[in-house]
Amino acid sequence: MSDTATLRKEDFEAVIGLEVHVELQTASKMFCSCSARTFGEEPNTHVCPVCLGMPGTLPVPNWTAVEWALKIALALNCRINRFSQFHRKNYFYPDMPKDYQISQYDYPLGVDGYLEVETTEGEKRFRIHRVHLEEDTGKLIHIGKSGRISEADYSLVDFNRAGIPLVEIVSEADMRSPEDAKAYMQALRTLLLTLDVSDCNLEEGSMRCDANVSVRPRGSTEFGTKTEIKNLNSFRSLERALAYEIKRQIDVILSGGS
Ligand code: ADP
Ligand code: ZN
Ligand code: MG
Repeated sequence: MSDTATLRKEDFEAVIGLEVHVELQTASKMFCSCSARTFGEEPNTHVCPVCLGMPGTLPVPNWTAVEWALKIALALNCRINRFSQFHRKNYFYPDMPKDYQISQYDYPLGVDGYLEVETTEGEKRFRIHRVHLEEDTGKLIHIGKSGRISEADYSLVDFNRAGIPLVEIVSEADMRSPEDAKAYMQALRTLLLTLDVSDCNLEEGSMRCDANVSVRPRGSTEFGTKTEIKNLNSFRSLERALAYEIKRQIDVILSGGS
């Protein structure tokens, strides 16, 4: 690794990997028969003991959701695992009634794929690390001055979204600029719309993105320390957040920080 003290801004490159979540537009939810088409509906009207996480309930997988997730994995040139498994991902959050999310961990549906993307610098191949199936959480509505949690007097929870099938698509850290990330996300959205598995509506949250980003001296093959920007819901915010964060990280390193 070169001595960062002698480097200038232009000597750095960004390393970016995206985690994209997509809600499947199946008729019913992932593990119960409640409707999965709940956006804009009266809160808590599409719920049952299963998606409310009542004790003693039995989740039964939605096979259409499994098929659609496999379709996505195949379209992304993934290898399909012959054995796949759901796990409980335990964490406390008030919009998750069970306090765990049913997700996949060591045996995702698809692994090791790629997506070819037309960029301003020509066609690039971004590798896909994994494609897995999980369930969406409920939605918190913060009541107060601004709708932000920090200024809220109290919060309301709507479980209509809880249990909607959610596919997570994790890329390898193959992108090198905010433009790459945007082009990848746009190509992925077009692919998913073509497969007709989701409406991919970023504003309504049926497609969302977490952006992982680090910087390193150009030519280095090691990864720097990454930060993760969660829940980006437009192409513009993805590009702008990455540009801001790349500059911030370079400034930190150039001023001797880490
Ligand atoms: P986590 O378990 O913290 O979510 P992962 O290793 O699963 O982290 O990676 C999540 C995403 O971050 C992937 O898209 C991956 O390519 C990307 N990523 C991992 N390390 C880095 C890094 N140093 N810089 C940028 N992106 C990274
Ligand atoms: Zn239900
Ligand atoms: Mg992550």
